[in-house]
Amino acid sequence: MGQATRTSKLLLDLGKREEGGANPGKRASLEATADVLNQARAFYLDFFLAHAQKLTERVSYYSEKHLEMRTRALSPNELLTWAESHTVATRDHPHPWEGWNFSEGFPGMPFAYRRAAIKDAIGKARSYLSNLARWKKSGKKAGEPGVPGAGNHPTLYEGTVELDLESRGKEHARFVRLKVYTGTSWQWCNYPIKHSRYFQQRLTDPAWEKQSPKLVVRKNEASLHFCQTQEVKAQKIVESKQDPDLVTVAVDLNVKMLAVITVRQRGTIRETIFVRDQGLDQARYRHLKCIAKKQRQSGKPVKGEQSNQQLWRHVRRMNEHAAHGVARRIANVCAKYPGCVLVFERLRKIRRAAGSKSRRMNRKQANQLRGKINQDAREKAYALGVVTVETNPHGTSQYCSRCGARGERFSNLNGTPITLKWGKLFRCPVCHYEAQADFNASSNVHHSFYGEYHWQPRLKRSG
Ligand SMILES: [Zn+2]
Repeated sequence: MGQATRTSKLLLDLGKREEGGANPGKRASLEATADVLNQARAFYLDFFLAHAQKLTERVSYYSEKHLEMRTRALSPNELLTWAESHTVATRDHPHPWEGWNFSEGFPGMPFAYRRAAIKDAIGKARSYLSNLARWKKSGKKAGEPGVPGAGNHPTLYEGTVELDLESRGKEHARFVRLKVYTGTSWQWCNYPIKHSRYFQQRLTDPAWEKQSPKLVVRKNEASLHFCQTQEVKAQKIVESKQDPDLVTVAVDLNVKMLAVITVRQRGTIRETIFVRDQGLDQARYRHLKCIAKKQRQSGKPVKGEQSNQQLWRHVRRMNEHAAHGVARRIANVCAKYPGCVLVFERLRKIRRAAGSKSRRMNRKQANQLRGKINQDAREKAYALGVVTVETNPHGTSQYCSRCGARGERFSNLNGTPITLKWGKLFRCPVCHYEAQADFNASSNVHHSFYGEYHWQPRLKRSG
């Protein structure tokens, strides 16, 4: 049993006023809200670090499962109640502790926001304390964990957000109601949203459980991030490997041919899908060449400042878009074969690329893209109950996938085959098998998974 997660983003419309965007005052309120919540979190972080013994306190309880008395740490909810009773003035507890009066410092803050801040602070403080204890135990001099910062995207619990996606006579919802801090008081405000029926479908999908959204305020945009989770039942690899009818989906990731997906069952390849990059590599190279040129012309970079922000953002977005697309195609193949196993090569350590600056940057981006595809595909497949394995990548592109002998790569230039290290085609000198090199590599990933041919487990040397 495991849990798959995904995030659905709802953009708030902060565009031009005459085009339906939120007015500048409302935008300032969003920033003020994030600010004041950061302060509240800092307050409780200090509070918990000042009372660290409470976080590690053990209480005894009677375990129904084990039928005996046991001890456990305080739960976050108990800690929350304890913290509130000592920092917030109420009728039952009119006098909070000296110097820790939250109600005075943050008058009128809705309790839902306060609780979100406390829960967040508990998590941060606990992880810091356990890291610190581990570091002290290890006896190392370097690497002392630092005190955590209080910054985070605030979570909007119920009572601070109202989002009604069901249409009431109208086409679809156009506003979300948020409780925000205007600088002096807490008020409900309507924010226009960029909403589509795809988002609605995604959010109201009954298979996924919706959690409280997070408010993410960035320089040019603000959005609500809904985390969704799903319980997934998946078989262990060791168990599914026993099944003779097991379907394996192997993926070979490359630069120009982004992915070659092969499906194998009972030793034969049943399906192959080639995913090309549609000119992404070249387009990215052109942009990076432009960046390199600008950097060269503008001389020494200013420390702490990023240059060519728009171009970099564009490159990053192209990469992310491509990664999601490829990962979706991989997941769709997995969906066709229920109970299959997704197999990747372990990503190799990349040697520093040679060539001009733009070439090196492009190689770096291409390698990051491979990592992203791997990660995205893994997550999307897991939501379908498909587990991913990584196999030994040694020699997948050098050995013959039919007989296992060592072969060579070549390219056809003007009709004559020329042996090249990075040739597009593969040839086996033993069985005279010829194939597209990436397809050969992809088939070898299956061999690597089953430990066949070159990837046979080595016999232990005796004596
Ligand atoms: Zn061969």
